[in-house]
Amino acid sequence: MTEDTAAVYDYLVIGAGPAGMAASIEASKAGLKVLVLDQEATAGGQIYRNLGQTHPQQENVLGRDYVAGKPLLAEFMACQAEYRPGVQVWHIEAHAKGFLVAALESGKSVTFVTSDLLLANGAMERPMAIAGWQKPGVMTAGAGQILLKTSALLPKQVVLAGSGPLLLLLAQQYRAAGVTILAMLDTTPLVNYWRAIPWMLAGITTPKQLLKGIWLTLVQRFKTPYVSNVSHIEILGKDKVNGVRYTVAGPLTGPKAGRVHELHCDLVMLHQGLIPQLQMARLLGCEQHWHDAKQCWQTRMFEGGKTSVSGVQVAGDNGAIGGADLARLEGRIAGLTRALKNETGASLSTRFEGLWLKSKVKQQHWARGLVDQLYQPAPWVSNPAGDTIVCRCEQVSADQVTAIAKAGCTGVNQLKTFTRAGMGACQGRQCGLNLCHLVAQAQDRPIATVEPLTLRPPLSPITLGQLAQMPSQATDSQTGI
Ligand SMILES: Cc1cc2nc3c(=O)[nH]c(=O)nc-3n(C[C@H](O)[C@H](O)[C@H](O)COP(=O)(O)OP(=O)(O)OC[C@H]3O[C@@H](n4cnc5c(N)ncnc54)[C@H](O)[C@@H]3O)c2cc1C
Repeated sequence: MTEDTAAVYDYLVIGAGPAGMAASIEASKAGLKVLVLDQEATAGGQIYRNLGQTHPQQENVLGRDYVAGKPLLAEFMACQAEYRPGVQVWHIEAHAKGFLVAALESGKSVTFVTSDLLLANGAMERPMAIAGWQKPGVMTAGAGQILLKTSALLPKQVVLAGSGPLLLLLAQQYRAAGVTILAMLDTTPLVNYWRAIPWMLAGITTPKQLLKGIWLTLVQRFKTPYVSNVSHIEILGKDKVNGVRYTVAGPLTGPKAGRVHELHCDLVMLHQGLIPQLQMARLLGCEQHWHDAKQCWQTRMFEGGKTSVSGVQVAGDNGAIGGADLARLEGRIAGLTRALKNETGASLSTRFEGLWLKSKVKQQHWARGLVDQLYQPAPWVSNPAGDTIVCRCEQVSADQVTAIAKAGCTGVNQLKTFTRAGMGACQGRQCGLNLCHLVAQAQDRPIATVEPLTLRPPLSPITLGQLAQMPSQATDSQTGI
């Protein structure tokens, strides 16, 4: 163990996406000592990944919203905040001066101490646990887009399956790049369209996003082999993908309705919307709650992005999925709130700018209700069945989880000790939500009453050598490392 010689910061921001960049700009303008950590090699987050390094031809494919991030990126790179790319945070804990953040930088352990912390580490794709999703040849739409943004890597042909704006966007980008889309299997249940109708009014308040959504949907419907109201997708193939089987459900989809179809392919990209990456907030003990419309857990947010833990804020997709514009606004509010923390009598809500920003955030969250209603996952997606693998790390099936839940286990944490589900290298990131759904279904109780998986460090795998480089406080802590 090494001595604790970590530098002390006023504000440590995890994530250099729109939220983290906007917060750092505001906080550093106010003269705070700001540190920004991001595991990626370049700033920009998910939407502006690799922006600035991309070829003009790539930018044409990625579209206008991608290039629109350039001014924010330039402002961030020019601001006074210290930015360290390629640093992956794997542990955070309370410290005498605030918080101690442990990370890996070029394979070595590094630690930082900060009085205040902003979690702006974004979202992940909602795991879509369908039969065969663990086979080589299946990946997520987000992973496909990462390859496109970082390395201009494209498949020759692909089947896209699932639901949500990112799937439509990727279809558009792939078409622009000349990729053959063999099929676009849309799993959005028809009932969602009815449910979304009253929310059109909310959507109209953000006309740019609404028009983009309608345009993307219509273009894919007419320009790709589009199949709507798809259910029960199954990945075929023994050792790797060689096809996909699916059912077209419901009476409104014509003569094919209710029939099972098969399609030959060797690459399937799945997507089922986004959920916040809650692991850090959970590790810190921030209060979380179930959001019914978004069908996921969220960190409870108070004014200025504050959480139930003093000194910890969340912003952007890490707080509630809302897209890049909202992430940027929330980041600004979080940074301004931190900057005003030590100014007695001044609060963001007493300032005109703060009031304006807050009303904009409120309105955009309301408008997002349309997307939440329209793209809610179908029940067959949330509740996998039979021998479908739910926990890929430990190879635990839906049937095994359901049997133990029916036998009366108290929740997913006890289920973990019986089955090892959630105990693997991903620390339950890929199975945690489905485990909650399955326990709720088996025990016939609301999912909001199922306590999610408890988090323990490290949040991502590290070696014993890297652990030994940690200062003594972190290794002796109550977290048990
Ligand atoms: C795969 C994927 C692709 C997306 N593509 C698009 C798109 O093309 N267009 C669009 O409008 N929206 C896209 N989104 C939605 C996107 O999340 C938001 O629009 C927007 O980027 C949210 O901004 P943010 O700042 O909240 O988070 P993000 O932009 O997600 O930024 C979070 C940052 O935190 C960093 N981070 C995470 N964990 C750690 C850690 N342990 N240590 C250090 N750093 C960490 C990440 O590297 C990332 O840079 C995508 C989402 C995902 C998951």
